[in-house]
Amino acid sequence: MVKNKKGIKTKTSFVIVLTAVVVVIMGGVLVCQPVSSCYGPHITAAISSTEIYINESVTVTGTVCLGTEEETRSLEVRVTFVRPDYSWVDQVIIADNETGAFTVTQQLDMAGYWNVFPILGHINDRLGVTVIDPSADPSIVQPIVGSPFNPNPLLIAAAVTTVSIGAVFAVTGLKKKTRKISSFRLFIQVGLVFLIFFGMFIDHEILPQPASKIPVHEFLVGTNVAGVEMQDGFPVPFFGCYYPCGRTVTCALWEIQTYIYPFWEGARGWGVDYNSSGLVRLAVVFAVIIVLSILLGKAFCGWVCPFGLFMDLLTYLRKALKIPHRDFSEDFNKKFHQFGYVILALIILLSVMFGSEAIAGTQLIPGTEEGGFIYQYFSAPFCQVCPMKPFCVLLESSVGLIRFEWITQVTTGQFYELGYYVTSLNLLVLGVVIAVSFFYRRAWCRICPMGALIALFNRFPPFKWVSVLRLDKKEEKCTKCGICKRVCPTQVTEVYDKKSGDVTTSNCILCLRCVEMCPYEDALQLKVAGKTLIKSRNWLE
Ligand code: SF4
Ligand code: SF4
Ligand code: SF4
Repeated sequence: MVKNKKGIKTKTSFVIVLTAVVVVIMGGVLVCQPVSSCYGPHITAAISSTEIYINESVTVTGTVCLGTEEETRSLEVRVTFVRPDYSWVDQVIIADNETGAFTVTQQLDMAGYWNVFPILGHINDRLGVTVIDPSADPSIVQPIVGSPFNPNPLLIAAAVTTVSIGAVFAVTGLKKKTRKISSFRLFIQVGLVFLIFFGMFIDHEILPQPASKIPVHEFLVGTNVAGVEMQDGFPVPFFGCYYPCGRTVTCALWEIQTYIYPFWEGARGWGVDYNSSGLVRLAVVFAVIIVLSILLGKAFCGWVCPFGLFMDLLTYLRKALKIPHRDFSEDFNKKFHQFGYVILALIILLSVMFGSEAIAGTQLIPGTEEGGFIYQYFSAPFCQVCPMKPFCVLLESSVGLIRFEWITQVTTGQFYELGYYVTSLNLLVLGVVIAVSFFYRRAWCRICPMGALIALFNRFPPFKWVSVLRLDKKEEKCTKCGICKRVCPTQVTEVYDKKSGDVTTSNCILCLRCVEMCPYEDALQLKVAGKTLIKSRNWLE
């Protein structure tokens, strides 16, 4: 009891200290930036109309501000008008030397939804306009000529090669008694990555409405498949990152952040128009997360998450190079894991503080108004440091799905500059995560806020009582050999330490490596709604 109290006290102090450190760092970032007037390079723009007839023109007016330290920077503004078929027209203009104002007019020659990006160096604003063709009779359904999809052969070849290699590994592994589950899991992980980014393989042009209002190359499960009003796609509790094109689902963390700020009030989003309030959208997101977390829990992390797969591949690489893994001390690992909840709490806290004007009518943080410092650089604060974003975006630009200069421009800017997709902070975090995860298995998963979110709705009462998947242990079958503890990628110790019954913990990603490696018949089992699905087997004989 005394030990427990001490443990809780240590954990609480650890969480308080870490929160204080992160708040001080964030505060420092805010205080160090002059948040009014010309705080640094930024661009704000407006469009003359959001709905016009085909071949009419729109005028984009805006202001750029370079910031005091940037006086030598060019005032050159590029305005990119992206057609519904994702071809585009660029207009380059020089903003007024004194005021930073610019104006540009463009005739829009294609019916559908146009995205308009006024761009200043590394940063941009995003506008949209719907172009209507009055001669097109909406009651006439246009027949789809030929295949409904226009396949991308390069990507399909890459997919087929990867799945074939995965199948060979899986079949070879299935013959080994101690690799059966891992091989099957790898195969499922690889296959699901292709499902998550299925939109990469098809042409976007022929997709039905409302796909024309959604960014490039998407085929969203929520909108295109289920036809429901989730304009950003179906929220899922794993890193199906919002930013790369081609995704079929949406990152739940992105939705939570942006629906609080800056999209609390509905109306315009990035490339979509919302017809419900932020609160309604958040309710839908949380309902989906809760249901999925109860059903699958952190099996998402072990079996579905693309970033989890990436870390597993790093482990395979390390093993191939015959480099032994390293472990954190048990005590440190437990405290480190708590940091995921701190990050999650901070994400929500920061988003609420940023959105205070829309939510409560009082602006708590200067610079959160449209065009302000926070609006330009720190809306969706976690996305500016998240390692998944550069990983996805760089991969996609390498196969030509994202304009490469959108990424290279950013890495040369200020560390916090948003650019189109990636900040230098994203790249730094990804670099550190790769380096650490190479030696420490699934290192990021131990502090991942997405993992923490799933654990919240799966491992804590009352959700824990109704969670569908769990690991069970039979005390009488366990010989305390310690194999389960050694093979666990997230260094869970409870499977070894606990005597019997439910041994699932919030750090467990349900990878089932412990079940696979346990050499004693029936000592460990994966239970689905109370029924044993998989159990440990004596593989020594
Ligand atoms: S950057 Fe990270 S948190 Fe943001 S949408 Fe992508 S995966 Fe989600
Ligand atoms: S913990 Fe996070 S990064 Fe790891 S597998 Fe789960 S969602 Fe992905
Ligand atoms: S406890 Fe078992 S199932 Fe959970 S992460 Fe560790 S090895 Fe995987």
